[in-house]
Amino acid sequence: MMGHQTGCQDKLFYSFNLEAYVPQRHLLRGIDHFLDLSDLRQHLSEFYSHTGRPSIDPELMIRMLIIGYSFGIRSERRLCEEVHLNLAYRWFCRLGLEDQVPDHSTFSKNRHGRFRDSDTFRYIFETVLQRCMQEGLVGGEGFATDASIIKADAQRLHSVPGEDAMKWTLSEDAPRAVREYLEALEATNETPSFTPKFVSTADPSATWTGMTGPAFFAYCTNYLIDLKAGIIVDVEASTVNKTAEVHATQTMIDRVEDQFDIKPKRLVGDTNYGTADILAWLVNEKDIAPHVPVWDKSDRTDGTLSRSDFVWDAEADEYSCPEGKTLRKNWRPFKNPRTHINQDNFIRYRAKESDCAACPSKAQCCPNASIRKISRSVHEDARDVARQIALTPAYEASMRERKKVEMLFAHLKRILKMDKLRLRGFSGAQDEFLLAATAQNLRRMAKWLTPIAKEADLMPA
Ligand code: SF4
Repeated sequence: MMGHQTGCQDKLFYSFNLEAYVPQRHLLRGIDHFLDLSDLRQHLSEFYSHTGRPSIDPELMIRMLIIGYSFGIRSERRLCEEVHLNLAYRWFCRLGLEDQVPDHSTFSKNRHGRFRDSDTFRYIFETVLQRCMQEGLVGGEGFATDASIIKADAQRLHSVPGEDAMKWTLSEDAPRAVREYLEALEATNETPSFTPKFVSTADPSATWTGMTGPAFFAYCTNYLIDLKAGIIVDVEASTVNKTAEVHATQTMIDRVEDQFDIKPKRLVGDTNYGTADILAWLVNEKDIAPHVPVWDKSDRTDGTLSRSDFVWDAEADEYSCPEGKTLRKNWRPFKNPRTHINQDNFIRYRAKESDCAACPSKAQCCPNASIRKISRSVHEDARDVARQIALTPAYEASMRERKKVEMLFAHLKRILKMDKLRLRGFSGAQDEFLLAATAQNLRRMAKWLTPIAKEADLMPA
């Protein structure tokens, strides 16, 4: 028999317990278990007045933002609607059934004001990371690093050629993102090393990039993760270029060491992190083993002899060619000793013209030049360390483990829907990346460590 719904909605009194209503296996219960905001008020105390009308509780706003970034609700307006309607979200925010949800404009004021001035998002990220450490999810032995491009909230339509942007001057009525961009330029007191093709008038700090296909404005999110359980130990926003990404990784490694006294034994990364400068920094300054492919253009593919066919003699500071001839950086003494280091931090070693002219192997060595030259980086020792590591089984394992950071980026874009930023300016990008990384760490702890997680899931992949 087909039944009829018998409930009616005009009851005056309900007996309802929100705590009992939220399922025990709900992801938010796990997130709530690992999120400790008890010191947040203390952290923010300087940024609130001691008199006047009470503000909206900052913990409520942070809890709402964590819901937004954990469940891919990026619009503040929609987030307020969802918290209003969703009982589990109300429970997580400590709101009763009849409590008012803050207006979306309140978020905007606090995100760009107190929360940014007090570095609240980094404080929360680090609080959650500390909890990950307490739970034993951070091993500290191996870190991996990578960067991912995220579209900025900026259109080509609202942009000017780079040369025009160079003439901009700082004014009070300029939009926040433009002021931030010009203030950053003024603070560095340096002329940019190159003129970008386009600069967005809405978000000038975003980079115009065509690295992944048709060009658009974007930022990079840089992750430093611990390889034991894929916990993000640091995150940094950067412009879209290799030098900025490498610099971001150095900043993150230093910051983790300063804040938590953790320095990994090995760093895993792709070729972007295999330049001579960062390898030298890792090997000589930080004593970290670079599990990174060396950025090397010395191998020739046209059938002529590569640099690896020449033998290096460190003591004599010279190369020997396959014909037994010597290549040196100088063939005559100089009155004033020279380093012979070029601007690119490479030293050129040259064969003697007379040796090459009479050589039977010249056609395989330098068919289009009178002599053979070999370039050697001033950091070649560090590059050799990375080359030796690349021959080991541990390196192969590291390359497989590197996928953990790529999976986090895939999760960020597909599940958390962070394929485009909503906030503008470099600080906006940094705030969003910090919140997203916090949400990813919380979700990982909740899924792996709460009673619903299976034992097998606790093992590193
Ligand atoms: S061309 Fe010059 S550098 Fe090359 S193998 Fe012959 S002698 Fe050596």
